[in-house]
Amino acid sequence: MTTTRSFTPARVEKFERLLLAEEVEAESRLAEHREGMLEVRAARSDTAAADDEHDPEGPTMIQEWSQRTAVLADAELELADVRRALARLADHSYGICENCGRPIAVARLEARPTATLCIDCARLQG
Ligand SMILES: [Zn+2]
Repeated sequence: MTTTRSFTPARVEKFERLLLAEEVEAESRLAEHREGMLEVRAARSDTAAADDEHDPEGPTMIQEWSQRTAVLADAELELADVRRALARLADHSYGICENCGRPIAVARLEARPTATLCIDCARLQG
């Protein structure tokens, strides 16, 4: 099996730094969204208690809620991707296409450190 043992320690370190920076960023975004959702939930229960029948803000709240849920799910996926990439970096499978087993171009990894497919396989998968 091909591994990234051909990655120089400096290159491994560089991608580790990139990924750790992304992890920190994804975590803080996630925390922000969670906090935001708590606020929406609090605001929503206030509204419900104040006015059960005439609730002009109801649909807006629901819309905002589902939008926030989607954004939160995105942030969670992103964080999971970053952590998987860090694990691959640790076990030397980082930078290897999960589909064809060929090395992923370094330029592609630099642009997208969490990439798991080479450009050809990514194109095939649409
Ligand atoms: Zn591939």
